Amino acid sequence: MSKLNLFDMVTARYEKAAKVMNLDVEIQKILGRPMNEIIVNFPVVMDDGKIQIFTGYRVQHNNVLGPFKGGLRYHPQVNIDEVRALAAWMTWKCAIVDLPYGGAKGGIQIDPKQYSLKELEHITRRFTYALGDSIGPDYDIPAPDVNTNPQIMAWILDTYLSTVPPQERLRSIHVVTGKPVEAGGSLGRNKATGQGIVFTIERWAQKKNFDLKKATFFVQGFGNVGSWAARILCQHGSKLLAAQDHTGSIYNKDGIDPEDLQKYVEANGGVKGYKKATEVSHEQFLGTEADIFIPAALESQITKKTAPLIKAKLVAEGANGPTDIEGDEVLFSKGIEIIPDVLCNAGGVCVSYFEWLQNKRSEFWDLDDVDHKLKRRMVDAYDRVDEIAKKFNTDSRTASYIVALQKLEFVYKKRGIFP
Ligand code: NAD
Repeated sequence: MSKLNLFDMVTARYEKAAKVMNLDVEIQKILGRPMNEIIVNFPVVMDDGKIQIFTGYRVQHNNVLGPFKGGLRYHPQVNIDEVRALAAWMTWKCAIVDLPYGGAKGGIQIDPKQYSLKELEHITRRFTYALGDSIGPDYDIPAPDVNTNPQIMAWILDTYLSTVPPQERLRSIHVVTGKPVEAGGSLGRNKATGQGIVFTIERWAQKKNFDLKKATFFVQGFGNVGSWAARILCQHGSKLLAAQDHTGSIYNKDGIDPEDLQKYVEANGGVKGYKKATEVSHEQFLGTEADIFIPAALESQITKKTAPLIKAKLVAEGANGPTDIEGDEVLFSKGIEIIPDVLCNAGGVCVSYFEWLQNKRSEFWDLDDVDHKLKRRMVDAYDRVDEIAKKFNTDSRTASYIVALQKLEFVYKKRGIFP
């Protein structure tokens, strides 16, 4: 399925879950569309003194469970349809892990590698300024996503605080999460999504009596999510056999040390050229003989064309939307299990919530505390999804949507529709 209809893919899955659970048709109408869609065009002075106009998006899908929450992506493929899909996924995800948040997502259609650090700072600051009151610490809280990081969050923080009255500044630092720890961030946020993925894999393994110490895996995307998932899974004794990013794919049957690879990627910008592994083709990478595949790059990677190549027992979806609808069908027919994105990668937003709480309460939690709370939330969510899958005799993806939709339906029914 192409990127042009990513929101259609979200809608199709949503409609399937709505049918299986018999969601109230009136509520289905509400949740089928985002509440707000903000598009801003803003000028930035480039290093050469010339002005360039950028387009930024923020889609606020739903806030019936709490403030809008979701990342910001800087990527050439960002478009309104993709942002809509990502925002809806955030609504389901926050409901599944039981956070008092709604869903949103945003981004700018740029390739950040084409800009200097100074230009990126100016782009980020002007984007934040253009969004104005559309974001806010108890209204809509951005976070990192593809190609955005703690530094970018710090610029957003600083710009936002500069636009509010002085007496409100110190009580507004929770306007953004994923900040550097020294600037109000939480311990454990950087690794949170990867850590959450591993907690769900552990739970899966526990339920299947599968020994992770003997497991092999491969990972697509060696950025924040993929590299942390790999590093943490290896701490359990599992072996990383292959990795892929935008620069290429590498393989080593004896295993790749993810800590060492991480250092290499930091220094060289990608996995290509890593000497302790062999370069392989995209097809060879996808066909890696391993137990677990962690897609942690972009959406629509597992399709009718690529899914037949996959031989893993489990696909743990670190990325948002890595499997399209036809890809799902192929995996299902091959008996490959899926931990769906809205459950599997929810660790990031969980620790974002912890950061937000720490900021609001002027607290600073230690890492054990963060990890312990994250584990409980991920395991509880995994078990809820498992229970619903059994109850409705359905697949894990549909079950995870049902967990979210049941909660949203309940709240809408209690609150009613104004007026
Ligand atoms: P990132 O920018 O840190 O890393 C992205 C990785 O994907 C990089 O290694 C990049 O080289 C790779 N990549 C890009 N295009 C590729 C291609 N065509 N083929 C193979 N690899 C490619 O981003 P991230 O934060 O790690 O996000 C990765 C995925 O996880 C996204 O789908 C994102 O929405 C999702 N996610 C991120 C978080 C978070 O906390 N950062 C939380 C939940 C979900």
